[in-house]
Amino acid sequence: MRGIAFKGNSIAEVIDYPEIAPGPEQVLVKLRSSGLCGSDFMSYRDKSPNEHNAELRRPGHEPCGEIVELGPNVKGLSVGDRIIQHHYEGCRKCDYCLTGWQQLCEVTDKKEYYGRSMHGGHGDYMVAHQSTCVPLPDDLSFEIGAYLACGASTAFQALKKLEISGRETFAVFGQGPVGLAATIFGNEMGARIIAVDISTERLKMASNLGAWKTVNASSGDAPEQIKELTNGNGADSTLEAAGLSVTRIAAVESTRVFGKTCLVGEGGEVTYEPTPHIIHRHLTMLGSWTFSTFGLSEAARFTAERKVALDSIITSRSNIEDAPQAYKEFSKGAPGKFVINWD
Ligand SMILES: [Zn+2]
Ligand SMILES: [Zn+2]
Repeated sequence: MRGIAFKGNSIAEVIDYPEIAPGPEQVLVKLRSSGLCGSDFMSYRDKSPNEHNAELRRPGHEPCGEIVELGPNVKGLSVGDRIIQHHYEGCRKCDYCLTGWQQLCEVTDKKEYYGRSMHGGHGDYMVAHQSTCVPLPDDLSFEIGAYLACGASTAFQALKKLEISGRETFAVFGQGPVGLAATIFGNEMGARIIAVDISTERLKMASNLGAWKTVNASSGDAPEQIKELTNGNGADSTLEAAGLSVTRIAAVESTRVFGKTCLVGEGGEVTYEPTPHIIHRHLTMLGSWTFSTFGLSEAARFTAERKVALDSIITSRSNIEDAPQAYKEFSKGAPGKFVINWD
């Protein structure tokens, strides 16, 4: 079977991997779509294969496909089921695992990440534990399922946490794949969206997805621009999806008194001044890291029932043979989302 290998220094190759078969409680999934998430780029760009891909494990933690074979003792799944794969596996016994939050599993030697510590979705097939398979609603395409497998549902979960509603003006910092999904979901939930980025292309996409206003942070202080749009108050809620110190500060400074802000952009660091930034402004600060299996199912149902056009954010599609070149092109900073598709 074919699969992608990251060789370091932004080199990806299609190589032959051994055939695979499901073990007990596992299924074999034929991939139909596999998304590229921001964190994949970190291992793609590493100077040499790091601990995550030293054994050339197939990357890809946004897998979506069809079950083609059941291992022994699989319950509740059938050959032909269309599934989105929740890309974490834990002990299946602790409180977090039992509530679908395997990524929070406390039994560290049982915790696995598909696409990192285990083979992921950038291959013709993958083996997945039955507990990680979430039904893909009939009305959703495989590529929308792939987007939901990490990026889009991460946004959905953060919006749930912020309790975004039609009462709100909601500013989204960073219009990458997670931020664009926050824009389209937030709009569907009725909020007035202010999309913030430094790329005019990304802001144009955000407008097309229903953003009420766009703010180009490279053409002036973003918090000032947001206050001008909100009678001097700031946004009711803000989301930071860029993972930068400057946007983390700007998101806080753009939130109104008694407002809420949520961080989803990972890595790096930031220094807040507690009194002016948080205490004297009665700010509620939240963090949100991906979602549970239930959260994934909920995001998928919302997308299907409301006909949320997540596919309009997918700007780059490739088959697996051409994926290495497509990686290279997309890593130059193209807006939107990249997926590998199989016929
Ligand atoms: Zn991801
Ligand atoms: Zn556990």
